[in-house]
Amino acid sequence: MLMENIQSLKIKIIILLSVLIIIITLIMATLYIQNLNTVVNSNIQLFSMTLMEKEKEELKNKIDLASNILQMYYEQTEPKYIENSVKQTLISHQQQLFSQLRSFYEQNKDTYSKSKLKKELQLLVQYARYGSSGYFWINDMNYTMIMHPIKPEYNGKTFFNVSNVPFVSLGIEDLKKSSKKESFIKYKFYNPATKKYEFKVSLVKIFEPFNWIIGTGQYLSDITPVMKKRALADIEALRYGKSGYFWINDMNYTMIMHPIKQEYDGKVFMHTLEVPFVELGVRALKQSKKGSAIIKYVFYNPATKKYENKLSVVKLFEPWNWVIGTGVYLNKIDTSIENIKLLKDKEEQKFIYKTIILAVLIIVTTIAIAYYLIAKFIINPIENLNDEKEHFEEIAQIDFLTNILNRRAFFHEANKYNAYAKRNNIKLSVMMIDIDHFKKINDVYGHEAGDEVLKSLALLIQRLIRKEDIFGRLGGEEFGLALLHADQFSVYGIAEKIRSSIEESSVIYRGYIIHYTISIGCYTVTSESQDIKAALNKADMALYRAKSIGRNRVEVYTNIASIKNKKV
Ligand code: GH3
Ligand code: MG
Ligand code: MG
Repeated sequence: MLMENIQSLKIKIIILLSVLIIIITLIMATLYIQNLNTVVNSNIQLFSMTLMEKEKEELKNKIDLASNILQMYYEQTEPKYIENSVKQTLISHQQQLFSQLRSFYEQNKDTYSKSKLKKELQLLVQYARYGSSGYFWINDMNYTMIMHPIKPEYNGKTFFNVSNVPFVSLGIEDLKKSSKKESFIKYKFYNPATKKYEFKVSLVKIFEPFNWIIGTGQYLSDITPVMKKRALADIEALRYGKSGYFWINDMNYTMIMHPIKQEYDGKVFMHTLEVPFVELGVRALKQSKKGSAIIKYVFYNPATKKYENKLSVVKLFEPWNWVIGTGVYLNKIDTSIENIKLLKDKEEQKFIYKTIILAVLIIVTTIAIAYYLIAKFIINPIENLNDEKEHFEEIAQIDFLTNILNRRAFFHEANKYNAYAKRNNIKLSVMMIDIDHFKKINDVYGHEAGDEVLKSLALLIQRLIRKEDIFGRLGGEEFGLALLHADQFSVYGIAEKIRSSIEESSVIYRGYIIHYTISIGCYTVTSESQDIKAALNKADMALYRAKSIGRNRVEVYTNIASIKNKKV
């Protein structure tokens, strides 16, 4: 029972420990994975934010570059700029012509007649052209047109304060006023190219040898359409990275230029899901005060053939009310984040495997240690105690040689029978059995043979009596027998059966056949006060009688002192 309890306790302890370890492992693993998740997630957030910021920064740089190009073209359309650039052009062409005229004059002034020289020089001026419409005219200081290459009908005519041909008067007056050799004049004049009266700037310069005024001019036309065209061409060709480009729409949702989808040009994109960036950009710019905005939307990526998140920057170019935009697909960031997540998942899996292995190892180790400790400190001591106890009990109860009860146990058990018999008014008889001339057996065959005889006797008697009869070795070659439900008659019968059986038996020892006999004294307990010791004394008295009469006999002690002497 005790051992079974200990075994179940052992199993309980081990189950408890295992469960405890599993719970602790689970808690730790959960905490670790949670921690890993929060760290990775915040890192991903940080990472994507940083990447996003980087992309935005790059996009802004690119849009600035593109809008600088627009700015550059726009600046060329400003009247002041145009005027300056026209003046520069006029100066350089005028200088070129004058150096030609002067060198021709110097070379030929001595050989040519004055009129020939004048004629030759006039021709030089007449045929001097530059650009698409640049020409020179000559008038003198008396308002007379000497040569006009475009309007030959002016030649020889005087233009003093003539409003539709104002440049002759203006030139002379300006030169006189400033007393310089050259001067710029500005006036409105009909431009046959645009069919409009437009401002024209002319440079008039005195050719001193003949006091000619040689003039040349350019219209200050609005070159915005030309510049816009050039700007669009430049922006259209502008590329970066694998697929970076710029588009331009206006604030009325109309696409002006899309370098990839030319079919979009001129179309209005409002409430168009497929092309959301025009509307998104315009709206974002209307809300933003900065003049630029970041927009995010889903758009078809031709590189991956998938609809993907796109991040774009749009910037308003106010002078022309144009919106210029460029964007990047965010698949780069998305895949990076995917990769991080995959990495994290792998790490998590590895950790789970490791944890399981570790937990199993800890459980196995703990079980082993628990087994060892329980065995060492609980089971072994108890087992030892049990062993010792059993051993002690055995030693205390059983006779070593014959394996029947020893004297002490016999008395102990017989006393119990005695008490039981008294309580229940049951007959109890006892016998004292002694081997006849046992000393002789020892002497003749040796002590070991004597031992064999003792063993054989015990075995034989055990076979003859009932299980519940108490049989013990009282010492030497003396045996005691206590039998319940046996009165003085029946005890005699049993004793006689035992005696005769022994007489008929023999012990074979080392080739010797040993025959021996026994004497038995019987007594049936009667008196209330009698204990087993007293009863055995009475039986011993009967035995003494049997010995003295001649041995190999059964004698019964009777209360009436009449000793029955029966020989069968
Ligand atoms: P009696 O017929 O009068 O009983 O003669 P006996 O020789 O049997 O009686 P006695 O008491 O003179 O001798 C008993 C002998 O039993 C003495 C002893 O050596 C021997 N003996 C006692 N115990 C053992 C034992 O365990 N083994 C052996 N072999 N001999 C024993
Ligand atoms: Mg004896
Ligand atoms: Mg004897």
